Amino acid sequence: MSVTKKDLTQEAISLEDKYGAHNYHPLPVVLTKGDGVYVWDVEGKKYYDFLSAYSAVNQGHCHPKIVNALVAQSQKLALTSRAFHNDMLGKYEKFASEYFGFDKLLPMNTGAEAVETALKICRRWAYEVKGIPENEAQIIVCTNNFHGRTTTIISFSNDPVAREHFGPYTQGFIKIEYDSLKALEETLKKNNNIAGFLVEPIQGEAGVYVPSDDYLKEAKALCEAHNVLFIADEVQTGIARTGRLLATCGNCNCANKDCSGTPEVKPDILILGKAMSGGAYPVSAVLANDAVMKVITPGSHGSTFGGNPVAAAVAMAALEVVKDEHLADNAYTLGEVFRNELNNYIEESNIVKLVRGKGLLNAIVINDAEDSDTAWKICLRLRDHGLLAKPTHGNIIRFAPPLVMTEAQLRDCIAIIIKTLREFE
Ligand SMILES: *Cc1c(COP(=O)(O)O)cnc(C)c1O
Repeated sequence: MSVTKKDLTQEAISLEDKYGAHNYHPLPVVLTKGDGVYVWDVEGKKYYDFLSAYSAVNQGHCHPKIVNALVAQSQKLALTSRAFHNDMLGKYEKFASEYFGFDKLLPMNTGAEAVETALKICRRWAYEVKGIPENEAQIIVCTNNFHGRTTTIISFSNDPVAREHFGPYTQGFIKIEYDSLKALEETLKKNNNIAGFLVEPIQGEAGVYVPSDDYLKEAKALCEAHNVLFIADEVQTGIARTGRLLATCGNCNCANKDCSGTPEVKPDILILGKAMSGGAYPVSAVLANDAVMKVITPGSHGSTFGGNPVAAAVAMAALEVVKDEHLADNAYTLGEVFRNELNNYIEESNIVKLVRGKGLLNAIVINDAEDSDTAWKICLRLRDHGLLAKPTHGNIIRFAPPLVMTEAQLRDCIAIIIKTLREFE
């Protein structure tokens, strides 16, 4: 019997189903190749990628400059551990620290690890610098946060699916409403043992919730007034995704050409991951100035792979691409086009309630019950029409293409999206 193309798809899905833990519910499409804004499945069908691996692939799939850095460094020296120095780490730390405007960088691999690292730095700072009594430090977080999947991080999630039966949970976190300065101020006033405030500049996983205009700036000011560290989780929003180098940075003194002057909001601790490598390799980082980073001492934290020479080479190439190809600018401009066109459509739509976002991190809210499967069905139909996207929560679909997209490609994508939505009106 001859193997049909459909069989290739089914075979790959069956293997995952039989031999892989069932910790995801992927869209039924099996990808085998990527280039720039496009991916191809095992049946040879070509798609626009409108998720970018949750914004890890901002620089586009298999960017030649990043791939070359990966290959060249892998052939020379891949891993030493931090037991010895390597000749790439320092170069990378200097490059990235200057790029984002901080004194120092601590290298890790995944976003969740970087968040854990930030929490540890914050707690140490609380005891050793701020003078909070041992084991009393509290960190403020927001409802509907997403910071990763480790035991401590899910301890302060309020997503029942992420938490259920993974207790007992880590103590030391106070949850407040997102985008509420009142809640933040009240909590800061009530409690003398607050060490930090951990926040996403836009809540991506929750459904691309953009806070009020002055929220981050005012929240930072409140933190400063109470001697509390402002910790920005920019794992998803960072590195040009929202039309600026960082979503916290309106106008900061970083390496981004289009961005000079004083920072609008400069976090005390900045957490980066995902697009730090352009999707080629797991690279994450925590950045802070000396006054905070000095609490980290030999033996107090580490990672076998963190800061390895391949990660260093890949991250430098990935960050250079962001600047060389003006990805922040492009995300800004295309984001305006995207929301304008979608808003025009939404005026006459019954199926879409609204579009929201910044730069090329956007979402539409489907006009149906939160637990309906309409968004899922729309994503299946988008796939049939050659565009891959995924619902975030229930009736919300996130749209986050690679930032190397051209305006012509984006307009092509908008046409696909609107044509698909019309089929559901
Ligand atoms: C994806 C994400 C993380 C976790 O990153 P992983 O690499 O999956 O561990 C943390 N914070 C935010 C805001 C994210 O979007």
